[in-house]
Amino acid sequence: MKILVLNAGSSSQKSCLYSIRGTVPEQPPAPVWEAQIDWHSQDDVATLFVKTERGEKLAEKLHSASRPETLSHLLNMLWQGSTRVIQSPQEIDGVGHRVVHGGRAYRASVVVTPAVKAAIARLSSLAPAHNPANLEGIELMEQILGNLPQVAVFDTAFHSHIPDVAATYPGPYDWLERGIRRYGFHGISHQYCASQAARILDRDLAELRLIVCHLGNGCSLTAIENGRSIDTTMGFTPLDGLMMGTRSGAVDPGILIHLMRQGYSADELDRLLNRESGLKGISGISHDLREIERAIERGNKRAKLALDIYLHRLKSCLGAMLMSLGGVDAIVFTAGIGEHSAFVRAATCEALGFLGLKLDLAKNENCTGDRDIATAESAVRVLVIHTQEDWAIARDCWHCLKGSSGS
Ligand code: ADP
Repeated sequence: MKILVLNAGSSSQKSCLYSIRGTVPEQPPAPVWEAQIDWHSQDDVATLFVKTERGEKLAEKLHSASRPETLSHLLNMLWQGSTRVIQSPQEIDGVGHRVVHGGRAYRASVVVTPAVKAAIARLSSLAPAHNPANLEGIELMEQILGNLPQVAVFDTAFHSHIPDVAATYPGPYDWLERGIRRYGFHGISHQYCASQAARILDRDLAELRLIVCHLGNGCSLTAIENGRSIDTTMGFTPLDGLMMGTRSGAVDPGILIHLMRQGYSADELDRLLNRESGLKGISGISHDLREIERAIERGNKRAKLALDIYLHRLKSCLGAMLMSLGGVDAIVFTAGIGEHSAFVRAATCEALGFLGLKLDLAKNENCTGDRDIATAESAVRVLVIHTQEDWAIARDCWHCLKGSSGS
């Protein structure tokens, strides 16, 4: 079965094609084709990058093309030119889409129907930077591929069982009736990491208490018990919780009231909190942790403060997840910072020493692939897992399509 995955962000679009022969393999296979589009709004340019399993690479720039035109151009490279891996679009059996917001209605991945599309459109008000792009991708595929089955894999679904006590904001009760509650995000990644953790530890997921730390440009923690998310740091929007690359994470809501009274509009606050805060806002240098680390080496004080706040927030939110779980068997680090920053992992684990957690410093420094980096006697395991959201989407798509075909 050939499954195309579309993973649309606000300013980027990742796509890949997986070929699954027989049943789903336990370990993620490499995609046969993968591509990325980055939109640069300031100069109206899209950069495209494609690579194939056989090592073919192609980079291109498109000027003044609409999003659907750019995506359509990119997908042509699946069956045309040097990066061709299939003879025609008809070889594709299904398309899996990452859809950021599934609201309360969607607790698992579903085959796209008109009702699902209407729900994704309705939920755009809760995820304005993502759901419209996800819907655009679904509709474009309908145009290119006709009635081919498509599957929506929701980033919120994994968190849909969070108990009311963790999901309800203590504002007026009618917020809850208006859908203002904690939804949580990065669910595809958290769920994938939880199942990989159980595999690495050779334990039943149902008996594990896990805290997954997804630390990329967006950052969130999830407390997982019995294979289910029971608490998470992102909330009604992906702005809640940890300090991130350009997002503030949780701040006193009184700050926003104060700024609104000074004349700030909702759009200005949106920009400040989503794009001008976090590591970038405090350091004044970059959202990228590597640049912050280089600036610290040069003695930059704001960069040092940014990293210190990042770690402080990470530790305090970890404490919250730990208490929600009432203990922990393994901490999982994933995404750009989680997978690559030995320093962030070491600083976090040092603070968890009181639990009997002992990091193997050599393993932490030389970590490649998915592995356990705690010492043999550590009371808590520490895992580094390369998150594979696209593969998780392809896998869900495969299951939904097999289910819908009755086989
Ligand atoms: P996204 O959330 O956009 O998918 P990523 O998961 O790629 O982002 O994470 C991006 C973050 O990972 C950036 O802050 C970047 O600095 C950080 N990162 C990537 N590689 C390293 C590294 N070798 N050391 C430290 N941080 C890294």
